[in-house]
Amino acid sequence: MGLLSSLFGGGDSDSSGTSTPRYTSVRIHPAVDNGVKPGSSSFGGGELKCHCTTDKVVVEVGAQTAHNHVCGCSKCWKPKGAPFSQVAVVSRDKVSVKENGRKLDRVDAHAAIQRYACKGCGVHMYGRIEDTNHPFHGLDFVHTELSGADGWSAPEFAAFVSSIIEQGHDPSKMDAVRGRLNELGLPPYDCLSPALMDAIATHIAKANGKL
Ligand SMILES: [Zn+2]
Ligand SMILES: [Zn+2]
Repeated sequence: MGLLSSLFGGGDSDSSGTSTPRYTSVRIHPAVDNGVKPGSSSFGGGELKCHCTTDKVVVEVGAQTAHNHVCGCSKCWKPKGAPFSQVAVVSRDKVSVKENGRKLDRVDAHAAIQRYACKGCGVHMYGRIEDTNHPFHGLDFVHTELSGADGWSAPEFAAFVSSIIEQGHDPSKMDAVRGRLNELGLPPYDCLSPALMDAIATHIAKANGKL
């Protein structure tokens, strides 16, 4: 252990394997900045509400979410000032618009994930894939922070981290961003997580007859 930590720079680690957080001032997303809240295995879903003060769009999600993560891509909706979104998936048959659906509009009808945003406040209420050949067809993308309920599945990793630079984040501060993500237990990836990349590759291999 001593040899390994000298080879790989054990840094601030003490003998118990914990280390003092050094990047607590780095903002990621309000839902994780004070620590990742654990999900509840008995949680069964809830309502997402947009940010309008009146006539809110209400979307019901009738199940626990999966693969929750923070995402740095330029397409996901992010709360003001946050470099990352927080986004999870749930079976599309569990997602239904309950109130003020007339305020929803597609952000980009040609995108693989068709994100439905509130025309009043701009918040994305859900993203849906209509291409039945897409690896994630059947899953909707939702931002569980739009629900007041606790118990949603906890974020597990950070996706498309380098993409925040494209949106103006200072590239010299990326070590601090990745440092903070690691401190939060959200391993940073510049695409999706290995599990999801493997799922995509498996889908493509099956479609091509390689598997
Ligand atoms: Zn709204
Ligand atoms: Zn994204």
